[in-house]
Amino acid sequence: MVNKVKFFSLLKFLKPHQIITDRAELLAYEFDATNTHGCPEAVVLPETLDEVQKIVTWAYQEHLPIVARGAGTGLSGGAIAENGGLILEFSRLNHIQELDTLGKSAIVEPGVVNQKLDDTAKSVGLYYPPDPASGRSATIGGNIAENAGGPHCFKYGVTTNYLTGLDIVMSNGQRIKLGGRAFDYPEYDFLGILTGSEGTLGVTLRAYVRLIRNPPAVKTLMAAFGSNEDAGKAVSAMIARGLIPSTMEMMDQKMMVIIEDFVHAGLPIEAGAALIIDIDGYPESLDPQIAEVIETLQSNKAWGTRIAQTAEERDLIWYGRKSAVGAMARLSPAYLLLDGTVPRTKLAFTLNAITHACDELSLKVAYVFHAGDGNLHPFILIDDPNDPILLNNVQRAGQKVIEICLAQNGSITGEHGVGIEKRRYLSLMYSNVEIQTMHELKEIFDPDNLLNPGKIFPEQESMEEIVKPSIKEDGNKNNEPSSLIYNPEDLYITADSNKTLAELQILLANERLWIPLITPWKDTTIGEIVSTNFNAPLRMRYGAIRDLVLAMTVDMPDGRRLQIGRPVVKNVAGYDLSKLFIGSYGSLGNIAQLTLKLIPLPRFRAGFRITFNNLQDAISCGTSLNKICYVASALLLCKNAPGTQSSAYSIIYTAEGMKEDVTAELDEAKHILSRAGFVGRMDYDSPSGNQEWANWLYLNISSSSSRTSNTIVSRIGVAPKDLPGFIQESNQILSTGTFYADLANGLLYTQGISDILALRQSALEAGGYAIILACPREYKSLDPWGYTPESLGLMKLLFKSWNPEISKLDLPNLNSLFLNSI
Ligand SMILES: Cc1cc2nc3c(=O)[nH]c(=O)nc-3n(C[C@H](O)[C@H](O)[C@H](O)COP(=O)(O)OP(=O)(O)OC[C@H]3O[C@@H](n4cnc5c(N)ncnc54)[C@H](O)[C@@H]3O)c2cc1C
Repeated sequence: MVNKVKFFSLLKFLKPHQIITDRAELLAYEFDATNTHGCPEAVVLPETLDEVQKIVTWAYQEHLPIVARGAGTGLSGGAIAENGGLILEFSRLNHIQELDTLGKSAIVEPGVVNQKLDDTAKSVGLYYPPDPASGRSATIGGNIAENAGGPHCFKYGVTTNYLTGLDIVMSNGQRIKLGGRAFDYPEYDFLGILTGSEGTLGVTLRAYVRLIRNPPAVKTLMAAFGSNEDAGKAVSAMIARGLIPSTMEMMDQKMMVIIEDFVHAGLPIEAGAALIIDIDGYPESLDPQIAEVIETLQSNKAWGTRIAQTAEERDLIWYGRKSAVGAMARLSPAYLLLDGTVPRTKLAFTLNAITHACDELSLKVAYVFHAGDGNLHPFILIDDPNDPILLNNVQRAGQKVIEICLAQNGSITGEHGVGIEKRRYLSLMYSNVEIQTMHELKEIFDPDNLLNPGKIFPEQESMEEIVKPSIKEDGNKNNEPSSLIYNPEDLYITADSNKTLAELQILLANERLWIPLITPWKDTTIGEIVSTNFNAPLRMRYGAIRDLVLAMTVDMPDGRRLQIGRPVVKNVAGYDLSKLFIGSYGSLGNIAQLTLKLIPLPRFRAGFRITFNNLQDAISCGTSLNKICYVASALLLCKNAPGTQSSAYSIIYTAEGMKEDVTAELDEAKHILSRAGFVGRMDYDSPSGNQEWANWLYLNISSSSSRTSNTIVSRIGVAPKDLPGFIQESNQILSTGTFYADLANGLLYTQGISDILALRQSALEAGGYAIILACPREYKSLDPWGYTPESLGLMKLLFKSWNPEISKLDLPNLNSLFLNSI
């Protein structure tokens, strides 16, 4: 019997209509999109962010579990209150608080529906790429908690790749900000840990998201194949050829028949399988891209390729794809929708193995999935949910699918999360040591286990649920991983962290691939780059370091070895621990090995430099160009760049990718410049902006460390939209030195600024930070960070917990690691 009386005290700060305790009304909150259920004691519907904080504080005092809930479309039982407690429902916190067209970002409340954010972005020419098929209802809060992906993630990435900050409420009611509007805050990447943590570490109050320019044009085509195997091979062939469509979605014949019956989308139901492929880019590049894609498909047994001729036809194909779940629901009273990931080249094998396993159990299975990501979604039909034998077989098949994916070095979940549904399998993927490490994080964020208890990790009392690992042993330390696994077809490389970036790039260039990273130093190792999170301007084109790390092996200070992640682009099993070791300067553990994402070398690179005599013109030019960046890999505003006149400002613009895209973008840039009447000198032989940035840093950091120099090199981060104003307002302070401003990413690299503390103060007031990258010995007492993250308390707890030997903690002094590393 639920004690309703205790909820009356919520009326001190909520209105009656914001509290549901009536049993009949609570029924609506017992389920998500899975077959599991559980009844909350009450549901509360906050209407302001302050109310959320008050509710969480109240629940903490009452020792009541809290389950955050977005739209309840989750496919792993995450939003179900199986332990009673309170459901915190976010549908009324659904405002886009800010849409920033200049810096391409937005600030959103957690109840904003995914598609609303994307539609709003599109209305101003921007794009929010993570697009779960449930995007018409799923919320951003739910997307963050599950690190949702979707069809376009093959090219554009998943939710974590688009978050720069989160405001969260911790289980005790404390509100903190993780990250923010700038990039690469000097703090542990708890933002990356919260993403995909299924509401178990904190409640999302507000998200700071990155947007990109909406692709100028897109075309959709559909290709039919005789079998799943042929379609899977065609996907690999496209990747091998260096083609990057924005989606590669696959359906088997059974699924097409089911969908076609429902929505009449014109799917090729006579084929064994079909691929839906989106190609985007400038209009000039679409035809050449499509020609190449079709040629590749046809030489891999595709027949009947069809290009959507109108927007309506395109929408219909996508409507068909996105209606798969609805179509299945019509067919049988229940189904199990699975979600595993494997390296892409293992797709065909994996599909065959799953079909075989289902056949053996007399189960009907159909497939629709994100083939480009190797993310499989087998649907198993449950004709009679009351048939215990059938249900038992379905559960056995579910486990078999997981085992098949793991045997291919895949993940137990690519995008649906662990929740209740897969918690018994977490131990098949991660060792006790790795799961214990995740528990330690939970302990730090939520020591009383009040936030979504029982999700991801089984409660103590239900430990018998756990499937015992037969695939890997705990601790794995004696199992030394091989030092170089190079897999061009699956677009990843695994290498020891002491390998230099330069030597790996040489190896990869033979296959026309690369790791899209650049460093100023020839002998920098990949371990150093990752542990210092040293990003180059090209992150605007290819993502930051945190977006390129797929997996890592870490040796912890106490001797534990962790193998985190898998060589797949989608993996939301447990906490994304790897984020903690990126940019933490080795303070939490030593990265022994890394698995990094590869991409095809750009086929073409070009750009220009334009020189100005005054800052105002250079800033207006940079700001105008920032709007059009789509294939740009650098947009730099430089003061006194080498080779230019002293006191001159220059803008360097570099674009790379398909030749037609690069040419179209540079033409657009020229058009903008001439329309605005910029009269600077334009130089088309400019080197790559990234290379120039790297050379400038190399020179300045090397000379700063020399005994004779008295210059300080710094990096300042502010919201990208604020950087032009920040430079203008700081012009006086900046006048003593030179700088390179990475306009698209809100980062300013300075050298020789005499009043660095004043510059830092301005950065802090703008919500950013200023760190010292290098300084002569006499400045060593200067605090290199000069920034106090709101998560400092959590950082200290974590540092202490993982470095038990260090009793007296002085986090700022961790900077010595940083200075040594460069
Ligand atoms: C038809 C269909 C298609 C789908 N397709 C995809 C797909 O293509 N890709 C994909 O990734 N997923 C897909 N999903 C799964 C699901 O839609 C996603 O997981 C989505 O992100 C869940 O969002 P939601 O708002 O419904 O969250 P809910 O289901 O309400 O909650 C999911 C989790 O998020 C937590 N949560 C919610 N809000 C907050 C908050 N403010 N703070 C902290 N935690 C919070 C909950 O506690 C829970 O653990 C699909 C689901 C359906 C039904």
